Amino acid sequence: MNHRLRRLYNEPNREDIIYFLETSQKDELNALYSFADQIRKQYVGDAVHLRAIIEFSNYCRCGCLYCGINRANTRVQRYRISREEIVSIAADAYKSGYRTVVLQSGEDPTYSIDDYIYIIRKIKKLGDIAITLACGEKEEEEYFYFYSAGADRYLLKHETSDPILYDRLNPGMSLENRIKCLKTLKRIGYQTGSGIMIGLPGQTIESIADDILFFLEMDIDMIGCGPFIPHPDTPLKDSPVGSEELTYRVLAINRIVTRNTLLPATTALSTINEHEGRKLALMRGANVVMPNVTPLKYRQLYEIYPNKKRIEVSSTDMIRDLETQFHQIGRYISHSPGDRYQEDPYIANGHC
Ligand code: SAH
Repeated sequence: MNHRLRRLYNEPNREDIIYFLETSQKDELNALYSFADQIRKQYVGDAVHLRAIIEFSNYCRCGCLYCGINRANTRVQRYRISREEIVSIAADAYKSGYRTVVLQSGEDPTYSIDDYIYIIRKIKKLGDIAITLACGEKEEEEYFYFYSAGADRYLLKHETSDPILYDRLNPGMSLENRIKCLKTLKRIGYQTGSGIMIGLPGQTIESIADDILFFLEMDIDMIGCGPFIPHPDTPLKDSPVGSEELTYRVLAINRIVTRNTLLPATTALSTINEHEGRKLALMRGANVVMPNVTPLKYRQLYEIYPNKKRIEVSSTDMIRDLETQFHQIGRYISHSPGDRYQEDPYIANGHC
């Protein structure tokens, strides 16, 4: 076995990470991908965890330069889904078989703590279902109340670990506060997700290596990395789209160094390679897929980047279709909420 790959696995280090992010040798790259696939099988098995995403508001107080729903974009028609409707969308997802919902939004302070508590409690009453929140930076007290009400996970990507680039892309925000929020979430007890965009203008390979080491050092439970996709109504409209191949490399390295984490085949990846993106990601380390269950009338307005898929299919049809796709590559849909450390009986007996 390739000695660098073995070292990457046993003693993750910046030099080897950079090497695999950069190597132009095809056989090295193939070895990286197949090793990541083996580590995935060994540590998390063949199950694919589904997370139903509900994009409940596209109002945002932030001005992130890459994001299509940033506050400065006056061309977006804004919407906010009522708390009753959010619960009813989650109930439909539960009925279709989803065991995790991800409630995602812009940073919209209109929803009160009581609204969140109402939504979280109602969804938890549906049955064995996990709730992931992805609503941006909040006060410690708010994170605490949501957790107490039953929220299980929180997703807050740090986007880039390069503080200068972070400042440039996120005016009025700071990497320091983002990291503080991640630490708070972990301390409270959330399974915590982070992630980056790949191919941000000005991003270096070295900073991506630091991002990977950051996931490891922080013991992040779920790591979502997708290519940057320029949105025409943002200041970054003329920047090039992030590299698909570099995204797979980051995914594979994440799997090798963090081993048992939850790694999604991101929607952004399926957007730049609609036919193969998801499958290739699942074959190179990923074990999570996040189908969008937001009703189409809202989903088309939650345009953080262009060309997000806009076909409305029923959730049950979507699950059946995914099941077929997964089956072709020897994988199956998990029917549990899919926590990071949950004992999955299928792993133990090698079922597939
Ligand atoms: N307000 C929430 C949700 C943000 S949208 C929060 O701050 O966490 C979810 C993710 O979409 C972001 O974390 C970012 O990584 C990604 N994203 C935003 N704009 C993007 C773009 N132009 N291309 C690719 N991904 C993008």
